[in-house]
Amino acid sequence: MCEFCHKHGEGKKWYLEAKNYSDDLLSDLKRREFIREFFEDPKKLTRGTENLKRLRKAPAYVRAVLEPKLVNRQKKVHYGQVVPIEEVEKIFGFVKSIVRLPCICRQATVGSEQRYCYGVSMLPDDRSRMFELIRAVDADYLTGPHTGGLESLSKEAALANFRELEKKGQCHTVWTFLAPFIGGVCNCDRSDCLAMRATVTFDFPVMFRAEYVAGVDPDLCNGCRACMRACQFGAMGYGIARDKVVIDPRKCFGCGICRANCAKDAIALTERSAVPAAAGLW
Ligand code: SF4
Ligand code: SF4
Repeated sequence: MCEFCHKHGEGKKWYLEAKNYSDDLLSDLKRREFIREFFEDPKKLTRGTENLKRLRKAPAYVRAVLEPKLVNRQKKVHYGQVVPIEEVEKIFGFVKSIVRLPCICRQATVGSEQRYCYGVSMLPDDRSRMFELIRAVDADYLTGPHTGGLESLSKEAALANFRELEKKGQCHTVWTFLAPFIGGVCNCDRSDCLAMRATVTFDFPVMFRAEYVAGVDPDLCNGCRACMRACQFGAMGYGIARDKVVIDPRKCFGCGICRANCAKDAIALTERSAVPAAAGLW
């Protein structure tokens, strides 16, 4: 269990606790202001990445002092966790409303509207305050919105989109807006998602690994390497002598994207806590 499971989930998976999506948390005016500011200024994210580049070049002692403080601050405001598709399905099973939103990371990195992010709410429809708030700033941060409002999806349609995206290598993540409130489930990749860049490229974690680790059944694996091409975390290796892939549990983020791209069903996820080499790695 990650730190948030203990702190915000009472020892269970924190992102499966409905109370962390509650309208009561969203009623907090400070949180509402944070969300409004977050969506209003995509350039702030780009500036954050530039700061990380500078931090990376700083002397080791400076990093040693600053990084833990910055990561701890991030955990309080906007932090994520990788979640495999079955956990996304559970989340969509209890939230009452799902809307597809333009991704603020892609707006900052690609400069155009890319609808990879999903806002979730416990209220019965997309007239919730969260979505009113986002709608109010929507037109300001988009270069060319497809619609004037927010795009509501059924649970089935949203899940089908997620399944399609993981075939294309997109890794699912849940996100807080002032912890423990969870307002979104996103689809990330290392090239365009600033959170993944920060975590994987700059070694500055802004999201936890999943509560799972992947493993390969060598009896089923035919060595095609389709899974390796999909893994964004460099966790897979290929052994030419046996013509099989292997997964390094110390590098695996447990996203399950390799599994979605294996035609032989040779990959399965195991609880991270049951894999000693990965149990303490987040
Ligand atoms: S996609 Fe499946 S069969 Fe192909 S190398 Fe990966 S685990 Fe083996
Ligand atoms: S090996 Fe691990 S990190 Fe790589 S795609 Fe599979 S589950 Fe994700």
